[in-house]
Amino acid sequence: MSPEPVIFHDSLNTTTVRGACPHDCPDTCALLTTVENGVAIRVQGDPQHRHTDGVLCAKVSRYTERSYHPERLLQPLRRSGPKGSGQFEPVSWDLALSSIAQRLQTLAAHDPQSILPYSYAGTMGQVQGEAMAGRFFHRLGASLLERTICAAAGAAGLTYTLGAKVGMKVEHFAESKLILIWGSNSIGSNLHFWRLAQKAKRDGARLVCIDPRRTETADKCHEHIALKPGTDAALALALMHELIRHDWLDHDYIERYTLGWEALRERALQWPPERAAAVCGVPVQQITELARAYGTTQPAAIRLNYGMQRVRGGGNAVRAVACLPALIGAWRQRSGGLLMSSTGHFPVNTAALQRPDLLAGRTPRTLNMSTLGNDLLRQASPEFGPQVQALIVYNSNPLAVAPESAKVLQGFAREDLFTVVLEHFQTDTADYADFILPATTQLEHWDIHSTYGHTDVLLNRPAIAPVGQARSNTDIFRGLAAHMGFTDACFADDDETLCRSAFGDAIEFETLLAKGHATLAIPEAPYAQGGFPTPSGRCEFFSPALAAQGLDGLPEHLPNYEPGGSDPRHPLAMISPPARNFLNSTFVNVKSLRAIEVEPVLELHADDADPRGIRSGDMVRVFNDRGEYRCRAEVSSRARPGVVNGMGIWWRKLGPSGTNVNEVTSQHLTDLGRGPVFYDCRVQVAALAADA
Ligand code: SF4
Repeated sequence: MSPEPVIFHDSLNTTTVRGACPHDCPDTCALLTTVENGVAIRVQGDPQHRHTDGVLCAKVSRYTERSYHPERLLQPLRRSGPKGSGQFEPVSWDLALSSIAQRLQTLAAHDPQSILPYSYAGTMGQVQGEAMAGRFFHRLGASLLERTICAAAGAAGLTYTLGAKVGMKVEHFAESKLILIWGSNSIGSNLHFWRLAQKAKRDGARLVCIDPRRTETADKCHEHIALKPGTDAALALALMHELIRHDWLDHDYIERYTLGWEALRERALQWPPERAAAVCGVPVQQITELARAYGTTQPAAIRLNYGMQRVRGGGNAVRAVACLPALIGAWRQRSGGLLMSSTGHFPVNTAALQRPDLLAGRTPRTLNMSTLGNDLLRQASPEFGPQVQALIVYNSNPLAVAPESAKVLQGFAREDLFTVVLEHFQTDTADYADFILPATTQLEHWDIHSTYGHTDVLLNRPAIAPVGQARSNTDIFRGLAAHMGFTDACFADDDETLCRSAFGDAIEFETLLAKGHATLAIPEAPYAQGGFPTPSGRCEFFSPALAAQGLDGLPEHLPNYEPGGSDPRHPLAMISPPARNFLNSTFVNVKSLRAIEVEPVLELHADDADPRGIRSGDMVRVFNDRGEYRCRAEVSSRARPGVVNGMGIWWRKLGPSGTNVNEVTSQHLTDLGRGPVFYDCRVQVAALAADA
């Protein structure tokens, strides 16, 4: 590995190092870290990276506060009190790794599938994510993890329609004349796209926000369509209905580059705006006017995001929306089309990084991370396989983020479950660990990044030495492999080697070393003449692959498992979007950011607050049959009547009563992709007495 991470010396004692933001955000910013006498003193956006344009969000601007946080884990810890008590004692790395290896060896001798890795996007890096971890768990023969918790339904919907997670190049939104921002609070979670949308707006574009919540983004758009959660497919089908009725269609594009037009036409004609308006809870006129704008404005672009797919019909909803651009031929222009995720454009060599060949013919079972609560409580059976007896958690905080927390907690509290957590901080999950292993932050390790919001690869160089005794994820899994006696040569690969192998020859690594980023060679308007990466090469309105599974080959509106208003005991629909200054459960413990958010908040409309005697500032109980959590009420027009917004995702232990919003969410799964349905949740809300 190159010993010199420095890219340029500003003065004798000060250097600036190029890196990449690792967080679960589509922007994947290029970072410049200023280091003085070995200490990172500032993290800024790289002005030479066109997407970052020198600007970071408030969260990552405070990255040094996070890396040098006084509560940062600095040495390996072993549990010294009862499970979940949060009591630990420091131990050496050697003792921690040898004890863990010994326990895993004992379990593996019986059945390695009783060991479950649990990880997600705590870092989006290809190397500190699943590279060495994948090698380790494949070599071990552990259970595989279906990583569904955020985007699985949307990914499936997009793939069945467009062939992969692909779309228009984000920079071209700046030239669009109509932008539908669908299921996204871009100001909070896609800031750099928002800057492009602002540019388009200044140049005359109309911006329409489609979201149950009146977000900060909705405030700044020309129009906000506040549909009910889980009704997006109905809206999209009604838009199609109007495009057909008024013949706002590009017949040539449909004929040449799509599959299943006649069948889709028939389906869409079943969705007049009046029907969709009743389902979506929006005025008919809002639908007809949106259809007119979409059918008659060029170029028209859709920025679709993952919020809308966290419901039972999330996969179908994405399919319905993803059909729209082909109907009007929006793909013909570089600033027309749709972007949900750009991940499919990146030629990541996953096999080289994660080495599934180390399974050597074994086919371990796969468990879904979105049903962790249920799976931790399952006994061994022929259908399930062995009981989960060891859990290795990295890049995730399942006790805060997984649905139906009460069951997740019950699982983690099992005395016989052996739990190891790789972390920066003592999170809710780490409290239940048997061993906590201190991990490095992005300032302290190598990584390489694809992104889901633009089309550049970014390299992250370490700016500072690991803080305390922290070790990178790769180094921890290398160490574990050594203690397990895994002698395969791949466990000796260093992180720079892993970075080099992530894209092979598809990206010039020397460019990354020199500039920090490299742009993929993608046509300006990639689907102007079809060429979708589907089996047919067309935009598949009708999916033969879905039909072959006995599923509906056409997109359809599927009502929520728990539509608001259908149960008098729990009459309110609840969504749980992220609080603006947090990113999932990351940053909740950064004091300056928590000071802005203050405490967990439930937004509810006056129509729902008044009959319950709830005023802004009251503590409330939010509950259903799965559990309850407590938070502060904010009576606000940000919530539509009948829908409450439980702003997430607080650490349980930092919220009132030691619970958070996932106490009430369910473990149901989406129609496609087996994802979670966080926004398909029915609750009741009640004021708490002042002394409760
Ligand atoms: S969280 Fe997003 S906007 Fe903030 S620095 Fe990271 S990539 Fe950029």
